[in-house]
Amino acid sequence: MGTPVVTVIGGGLAGSECAYQLARRGVPVVLREMKPTRRSPAHHSDALAELVCSNSFRSDAPDSAIGMLHAELRALGSLVLGQADLARVPAGEALAVDRSRFSSGVTQALAVVPHLSLWHGEVEALPAGTVVVATGPLTAEALTRELERHVDTRLYFYDAIAPIVSADSVDMRFAFRASRWGRGEGADYLNLPLDEEAYRRFVEALRTAEKVTPHDFEEPRYFEGCLPIEVMAERGDEVLAHGPMKPVGLLDPRTGKQAHAVVQLRQEDAHGTAYNLVGFQTRLTWPEQRRIFRTLPGLAEAEFLRLGQIHRNTYVDAPRLLARDFSLRSQPRLFFAGQITGVEGYVESAACGYLVALAVHARLSGRSFQPPPAGTALGALYRHVTGEAHPDGHPHTPTNVTFSLFPPLPGRVRREDKRGAYLARARGEMVGWRRNLGSDPAALHAGAVGLPAPPRRAVG
Ligand SMILES: Cc1cc2nc3c(=O)[nH]c(=O)nc-3n(C[C@H](O)[C@H](O)[C@H](O)COP(=O)(O)OP(=O)(O)OC[C@H]3O[C@@H](n4cnc5c(N)ncnc54)[C@H](O)[C@@H]3O)c2cc1C
Repeated sequence: MGTPVVTVIGGGLAGSECAYQLARRGVPVVLREMKPTRRSPAHHSDALAELVCSNSFRSDAPDSAIGMLHAELRALGSLVLGQADLARVPAGEALAVDRSRFSSGVTQALAVVPHLSLWHGEVEALPAGTVVVATGPLTAEALTRELERHVDTRLYFYDAIAPIVSADSVDMRFAFRASRWGRGEGADYLNLPLDEEAYRRFVEALRTAEKVTPHDFEEPRYFEGCLPIEVMAERGDEVLAHGPMKPVGLLDPRTGKQAHAVVQLRQEDAHGTAYNLVGFQTRLTWPEQRRIFRTLPGLAEAEFLRLGQIHRNTYVDAPRLLARDFSLRSQPRLFFAGQITGVEGYVESAACGYLVALAVHARLSGRSFQPPPAGTALGALYRHVTGEAHPDGHPHTPTNVTFSLFPPLPGRVRREDKRGAYLARARGEMVGWRRNLGSDPAALHAGAVGLPAPPRRAVG
């Protein structure tokens, strides 16, 4: 009996990469994409791997977290990175692409790769056999309902992302450690107190700041428990001071007094290298977030590892529901890939699709899946999906790859040396892992950009 067919549902960034990597390894794949018969409100073209919004894959700087992910995917022969490089347009340090050239490059590569068939049409019920669900943040309704039966929980529909700052960019002279009413582990939060005047200025800045306009399909109706801070600011002068900035139960040990308002920072990663601004989900534009949040006490020099966002999303609580090879614990024949696992971004979704292809391939070959090393950008994403990058009880919220997901660097490293140190460690760790993958990434890369495969050689 030959290798069983794998069905990949969704021909976006993750599904295209996953299907391609499986097919390149000789696994028969059916890729099922609902376009052009049905489209999500954000998808417009007929091509696969459509970029629904920006045409940027963000920074290509080798010592940025996302640039590291680019480099690792290139070295592994990623279809998405290979085609992005071919469709590159000038954009400074960013990897930006001609979107239609990029998507048609991916579509053509998938049309000619052996072992892969493309079926168009909406999938409403999960097919039999090994299935990879890669239907993204805007998974069609019928399948969402079907998935909810299998994951025995509601899939989340709006994600509210609060900004994250690196711990060493917070000016600790302004902060005090405390949990509200002294509960919890004693001093879990960093608190930045504001007097009434500073609070008023902040509220006014939020009211007048530039906001991102919602997409047509995103009705500006929010859960009351997770309103954007600027909406709260609009509702009244003291709404924030009674909401995410409430000072009650937080006495500043230096003054023995309660401030007028407090910004709470909650530890984001297991090692305390990053903090999120609790309750600061927002639709302010990114430059406005940087400008306004840096006026808060202690954040004048803040390094933002992630900025706030709110948009419609469909994703599973991966750390709880998925096994370490991205398969559903309760139904191991079902794998999840891309944004639906709680990664965020084009490149992160493609990277996740790549890892899932490796996991499915390992399963079908009777081997155990070897996760990427923790110090690599791929490993950082993996640590996010499995929950390892976060402290216990941390809610699984979608995130881009950031340095907060990496294990901390050993010893004391000066802030200006950190990026280089992350990069050096990742490069070192990639060598052994790539060697053990068992397929020649150079040959896969050649395939991804439509070149003849180079002669086989040792990798590393
Ligand atoms: C409005 C919006 C804007 C975004 N903007 C950006 C941005 O600018 N930059 C960025 O990096 N990230 C952005 N993202 C985040 C995200 O990373 C991208 O959405 C990314 O495309 C996710 O990749 P994916 O493969 O998981 O899903 P997608 O790329 O969305 O692919 C999913 C595919 O599955 C198909 N599908 C869905 N349901 C079914 C079904 N039942 N049967 C068959 N096919 C189905 C869809 O048609 C689609 O082709 C945005 C997200 C949204 C929602």
